[in-house]
Amino acid sequence: MKPTGKTEIIEADLVFLSMGFVHPEQEGLLQELKLATNDRKNISVNSSQQTSSEKVFACGDATTGASLVVRAMASGKKTAKAIDHYLQS
Ligand SMILES: Cc1cc2nc3c(=O)[nH]c(=O)nc-3n(C[C@H](O)[C@H](O)[C@H](O)COP(=O)(O)OP(=O)(O)OC[C@H]3O[C@@H](n4cnc5c(N)ncnc54)[C@H](O)[C@@H]3O)c2cc1C
Repeated sequence: MKPTGKTEIIEADLVFLSMGFVHPEQEGLLQELKLATNDRKNISVNSSQQTSSEKVFACGDATTGASLVVRAMASGKKTAKAIDHYLQS
């Protein structure tokens, strides 16, 4: 839906924010570490899951955007191996 720019106030007893499918919080950790993000505001990583800060690795939804548990698990496993390789070299 195209935004109209109009503001509408709707009275409600309960508002449930279903916002799981947005990028990670930029304020705090990401900004403090000055990590580069992509055009969808997810953390940019190279093929070794390394961020723009050499000693910082990232994985899962924070890098891909909203996805599936199995993909997050696979990403975590890949990242753990990459960190191990980095520390040993
Ligand atoms: C509503 C909803 C329903 C879903 N249903 C399914 C489903 O049915 N099947 C499926 O496969 N997937 C589903 N998913 C997707 C799945 O939950 C995610 O892909 C998966 O949890 C991603 O794992 P992750 O470890 O990358 O991130 P997360 O599980 O989001 O873990 C990130 C963790 O980091 C913590 N964190 C964030 N910022 C900081 C910080 N600055 N300092 C310290 N900790 C921090 C968070 O609190 C969180 O505990 C669903 C997602 C949502 C939102």
